[in-house]
Amino acid sequence: MADIQKEIPKNGRTPSKREGKAAFFQSPKGMHDILPADWPMWEKIYKIAREIAEFYNFSRIETPILENVDLFIRGVGEVTDIVEKEMFVLKTKGGDKLALRPEITAPVVRSYLQRGLHRLPQPLKLYYIDPVFRHEKPQAGRYRQFNQLGFEIIGGESDPLYDAQSIIVMYRFLEDVKVKNLMVQINSIGCRVCRVTYRRRLIDYYKKQKVCRDCTRRLEKNPLRLLDCKNAMCATVKPNAPSILDSLCTVCKTHFKEVLEFLDEVNLPYSLNPYLVRGLDYYNRTVFEIFTEGNDLALASGGRYDYLAEMLGSRPTPATGVAAGLERIIEIVRNEPVYQNQRTKPKVFLIHVGEVTKKKSLSLIEEFRKENMPIFETLGKDSLSAQLERAAKIKSPIALIFGQKEAYEENIILRDMETGVQESVPLSKVVQEVKRRLR
Ligand code: AMP
Repeated sequence: MADIQKEIPKNGRTPSKREGKAAFFQSPKGMHDILPADWPMWEKIYKIAREIAEFYNFSRIETPILENVDLFIRGVGEVTDIVEKEMFVLKTKGGDKLALRPEITAPVVRSYLQRGLHRLPQPLKLYYIDPVFRHEKPQAGRYRQFNQLGFEIIGGESDPLYDAQSIIVMYRFLEDVKVKNLMVQINSIGCRVCRVTYRRRLIDYYKKQKVCRDCTRRLEKNPLRLLDCKNAMCATVKPNAPSILDSLCTVCKTHFKEVLEFLDEVNLPYSLNPYLVRGLDYYNRTVFEIFTEGNDLALASGGRYDYLAEMLGSRPTPATGVAAGLERIIEIVRNEPVYQNQRTKPKVFLIHVGEVTKKKSLSLIEEFRKENMPIFETLGKDSLSAQLERAAKIKSPIALIFGQKEAYEENIILRDMETGVQESVPLSKVVQEVKRRLR
């Protein structure tokens, strides 16, 4: 991502790397600015997200950036990387312990319960596009602040249709933003009933293997986590670990089969990955990740989380959801033609000559604004040649040249930048004249 130090010359020149570091504050590690040049691309991606959400009937929700830290300890799980290692936690002057949200599903369910959203027609389909914070080791595709687009379907029945719909909505979004060669990996991690048997089988298996220190510690408390471990030693023993699919109860098996049938119905390709467990405790049954070929960092991940509402003190509430990391997506699609030359260029360039016209230009700009016609100006530059140079660069088809004489006569020169032909137009008619010509 671009670095603002490269954009701001010091004393008219770009500072060297060492000077740059000494001369300016740096953004916090793993956190970035979204600079003006990138905004058109971000806006386009937001627009696609909004259109997808609207099409599939998701309504937007926004929760606070800070939440009570217990929400994540209870919701995401105590023995998870997010809670054990990655939360930014602060204590308020009043003594409250708050966390910068490391994910948004638990906050959305908190809001659903707190604000009585369960009284609306169910299931409730919600989406968000907001920043999240994780104290991870910064590297390509892994940041400490990043933006997530998430879709959640909460309430109603624990219907496999909704598991499939969570995958479909994100898959369509990724297609629409031009990520190619998408791959969905999917698994079922069962329910409270069948997971008991599976946990036992996992513990029995891993007890006989050599695993890393973290995994030795979490084996009894959270053995599913071992399947997620990136340590080389743990990765070597994973392929022979028991598969959860052999332990699923009949209800979970049927649920999973139906999810896959719904995906088949819309020809959405997927592959089964019996070792996919996901790093958060609240999932049950379906879990999935979406990748693009050649990239082993997931672009989006999600699953069913029927127990989360209960973990937060309410009754069990069926729910499924998915979240994508927008930075990872942008890194992949930023060179796609649809994201090039996104800035809409104003078709009119206003050039002024002298102090009087500079002042009058301001009210002229307001006239153009009333007609919603963007107009480009460099009123801060008084040199005519500098303004003409800029006008030529912008390539606006029309230039308005406002000279002293014209101001005095209440006229302005309208120049067709393609033909070079110019004529004097009364100030009171210039907006309509420009409008007519651009039509
Ligand atoms: P999760 O909430 O862990 O299921 O992550 C959902 C999505 O967020 C992932 O599939 C990634 O695309 C993205 N993501 C997770 N962690 C990071 C990170 N540290 N930096 C950038 N994107 C991330």
